[in-house]
Amino acid sequence: MEKMKTDELIAKDRKHIWHPFTQMKDWQVDDFPVIERGQGCYLVDTEGRRYLDGVSSLWCNVFGHRVPEIDKAIKKQLGKIAHTTFLGLTHPTSIELAGKLIRVAPKGLSRVFYSDSGSEAMEIALKMAYQYWQQRGETKKKKFAKLTNAYHGDTIGSVSLGGIDLFHQIYKPLLFETLAVPSPYRYRWSSGDDPERVKKESLEAMEKALRENAGELAAFVMEPLMQGAAGMIDQPKGYISRARELARKYNTLLIFDEVATGFGRTGKMFASEHEGVTPDIMAVAKGITGGYLPLAATLATEEVYEAFLGKYEDFKAFYHGHTYTANPLACAAAIATLDLFKKDRTIEKLQPKIRMMQNRLKDFYKLKAVGDIRQVGTMIGIELVLNKATKESFRPQEKIGVRVIESARKKGAILRPLGPVIVLMPPLAMTARELDKLFDITYSSIEETTE
Ligand SMILES: *Cc1c(COP(=O)(O)O)cnc(C)c1O
Repeated sequence: MEKMKTDELIAKDRKHIWHPFTQMKDWQVDDFPVIERGQGCYLVDTEGRRYLDGVSSLWCNVFGHRVPEIDKAIKKQLGKIAHTTFLGLTHPTSIELAGKLIRVAPKGLSRVFYSDSGSEAMEIALKMAYQYWQQRGETKKKKFAKLTNAYHGDTIGSVSLGGIDLFHQIYKPLLFETLAVPSPYRYRWSSGDDPERVKKESLEAMEKALRENAGELAAFVMEPLMQGAAGMIDQPKGYISRARELARKYNTLLIFDEVATGFGRTGKMFASEHEGVTPDIMAVAKGITGGYLPLAATLATEEVYEAFLGKYEDFKAFYHGHTYTANPLACAAAIATLDLFKKDRTIEKLQPKIRMMQNRLKDFYKLKAVGDIRQVGTMIGIELVLNKATKESFRPQEKIGVRVIESARKKGAILRPLGPVIVLMPPLAMTARELDKLFDITYSSIEETTE
């Protein structure tokens, strides 16, 4: 087939495709690159322009692109079989991967339920928690508590657990009711941004919600350490261990969504590890295949799992599954990914880079529009404000985040903002030199757009 020219590709895209989270009217006139190849931490478009992959291809890439070990693992699996069902059958790669996942997961999580995306992994988590209590005879426990600003995916169940009005308002009539616990958003906490005070008050609010609803709560759901799509909202030290304590005290399950925070992003394999916490159910996706193929898993404790055991005619099985559940190619990529973490000592090598990023970020406060900077490991949010003293936000029509990332693209980096929050989430394997370049580009793009 003759190589389609860039203009032709763009015209055909605009004619046939509907992009996610995109105002397609703007898409008809906006500039966008057509990415044809990847090489290490760079993306290369059809014009041969190279861009640093500054948000890990939407938070999933781990070791860069075209990683020989992962490429090879997928090809090897392809030489055997691309897909076979998981209903009534099983296959070696999924078995091997489950063992490896359990080995690196927080201690006590012993069962792996596969699916294809983070949204599904969360959908599964909530159905699991719900059915768990029903089958244990505690039939009043039907409600879910969540953090405000939460994002857990785009399917209706996971949207119900979400709290980003911008995305979720329109679907309100379709959603089930949840209990919102205020997320510890220090920068915009109602009684001021003193960290100790925010910690104390947010934990009190958490306890109040769990105590007052104890008899009705099926689970308390949260992203541990850092709420990603919420705008990179980090949690104070002790927040997740307190959540663990309170969930136990008030007899509710604790569900961690580690879809974004998992696989090294926070500086440890899982965010839960920072405080030695084991949730009852944990969802993982994004980085699990190194950013190669869609795969997700919901991990559960033996106690949760056992509530689903019974005689065939008791109908206690977990009735959930997808056509491509545990796809062997994706499982092969995930095994190669976990092996690379070990072989490359990825987490260990990441530590100096995290400190370097911390140092570089200090400079950003010099910029007039930088109100707050939040970092957990390699997850970074830079909140831009119109007025630093009053914390007044930019108006949506100013599209401040979009303008900054457009500027960054011209300078050779792909970013993706969350409203006025500029996100940096480089692949774990990005080199110190590449990181430097990414930070230079980000700094000058914010400067250029806001000063
Ligand atoms: C991305 C994300 C999801 C949804 O995952 P998809 O694979 O996009 O469906 C869920 N939870 C968190 C925390 C995420 O960051």
